[in-house]
Amino acid sequence: MVKFIGAHISAAGGVENAPKNAAEINATAFALFTKNQKQWFAPALSAASIEAFKKNCQELGFAANAILPHDSYLINLGHPADEGLEKSRNSFCDEMKRCEILGLDRLNFHPGSHLREITESECLSKIAESINIALDKTKGVTAVIENTAGQGSNVGYRFEHLAEIIDKVEDKSRVGICIDTCHAFAAGYDLTTPEACGKTFAELDKVVGLRYLRGMHFNDAKKMLGSKVDRHETLGNGAIGTDCFKWLIEQPFTDNIPLILETPEPEKWPAEIELLKSFVKQEDK
Ligand SMILES: [Zn+2]
Ligand SMILES: [Zn+2]
Repeated sequence: MVKFIGAHISAAGGVENAPKNAAEINATAFALFTKNQKQWFAPALSAASIEAFKKNCQELGFAANAILPHDSYLINLGHPADEGLEKSRNSFCDEMKRCEILGLDRLNFHPGSHLREITESECLSKIAESINIALDKTKGVTAVIENTAGQGSNVGYRFEHLAEIIDKVEDKSRVGICIDTCHAFAAGYDLTTPEACGKTFAELDKVVGLRYLRGMHFNDAKKMLGSKVDRHETLGNGAIGTDCFKWLIEQPFTDNIPLILETPEPEKWPAEIELLKSFVKQEDK
């Protein structure tokens, strides 16, 4: 049982700095933006930057299945208007290609929003079509759909939404999911006890299938169960509590995938990583 545990770290100054920043906090996994997350497009990665990134990952022991890149927050693959949809699809393809060039095998993204102009189902169909287009234009990178808290007009807050998207994706071998614990809890899936976790993940397995899990975001939640408010909290300081994360570390389905903290206080990441590592059974370390 191998657990890859880390955080969404800074790639300031170049993507090649991300593995170094991750190693500094004793992480065995990391997430990063491959470009400024607040911009639609960015200049191509330089050959030197690509080479340095690969070299640093290799030297510091980060394989592709321990790295979970995240796309720009501007992208809405379920955009109701043609212009916004087109721009989002082009930007997403560009992000998928950046991952491909860096030797990465997955890209994590928020599914999209209907902006109250189309139905949830129409939005989910557009997202699936967007994924089909991106998979057609790239090689070797899996599109990893993240569950959401259900804030605003975002889709993806029910496991059924993830299943509906996957159902319409042609190449099932290159689509996956990332479950964010804060988002699931905010969306109404209880995670406060081992029993509740068992029930929630059994439901995920039944509705979507745990075989699609390509990463997780480990966040405690500031708000109550079903709040639909996306506010992350440091592990143990929120409404979920640490039992959930101990339970998750003990499950075989969290083996060999990036387990990523997106908690609000980076200075606490070393302690949070240490805590999660302490949950790995001694004989398996
Ligand atoms: Zn997340
Ligand atoms: Zn969030």
